[in-house]
Amino acid sequence: MPGVFNLSVDHAVAAAKEAYGLGVKSLILFGLPDTKDAAGTSAWDPNGPVCTALKAIKDAQPELVLAADVCLCEYTDHGHCGPLERDARGHVTVANDQTLPLLARAAIAYAQAGADLIAPSDMMDGRIGAIRRALDERHLDDIAILAYAVKFASGFYGPFREAAQSAPKEGDRKSYQMDPANLREARREARLDLEEGADMIMVKPAMAYLDVIREVKAMSDRPVACYNVSGEYAMLKAAAQNGWIDEQRVGLEILLGMKRAGADVILTYSALDAARWLA
Ligand SMILES: [Zn+2]
Repeated sequence: MPGVFNLSVDHAVAAAKEAYGLGVKSLILFGLPDTKDAAGTSAWDPNGPVCTALKAIKDAQPELVLAADVCLCEYTDHGHCGPLERDARGHVTVANDQTLPLLARAAIAYAQAGADLIAPSDMMDGRIGAIRRALDERHLDDIAILAYAVKFASGFYGPFREAAQSAPKEGDRKSYQMDPANLREARREARLDLEEGADMIMVKPAMAYLDVIREVKAMSDRPVACYNVSGEYAMLKAAAQNGWIDEQRVGLEILLGMKRAGADVILTYSALDAARWLA
């Protein structure tokens, strides 16, 4: 997508400094490992791209708040968010309970490397509690958890999956991501993550789910984030490049809509553009 690149660690440090200089206070890191396997073991490699970049960026710009995305789909060779198992009927499915300690292991590695926020995006049941306990046991009590609490099975993730090479090789994520039609499930998922100890909760995607942001904001006593995802950014850029819309005007209007709906934090590919427009 225009303006979006996979960065090596040295370039990530330069990008982080530029972002901070423009007024962006927080970044989230996603990893693209050299090798992938069935369990996603490179997710917690202390010499992997995310741990290395967290250390390098913290050294270069200590004031930046760093979040680390925690999921296994970038690290598994099958592209699902956890290791697979065959159920009693012979169906291949993600092994929810086997995934939890692996996510916790990745979370500890990122926290030890310098992440201030751990952001689990996998949607396995029970992962917030498992990660919280694992961090606390290692005296990482003050590392916060930003839970992707309400994550819909959405067509808007297409460009990210291509960039992260994380599209499932077989099947889809509908057994662990949510039905876009189901608002009551959104409430339940948010409640469970809050009960398990999430410090912030996220709704993803954002543009077609502003009502969900509002709903979650009303029930949460903690900050609410939304994820303005790759497909949303792609539509803005493509329309602007075709001369069909005014990019700055529409780009800021989209972010304003998310704020108005109740988002305290917006995770967006438009962050650098928006910082420049607002300056
Ligand atoms: Zn995933």
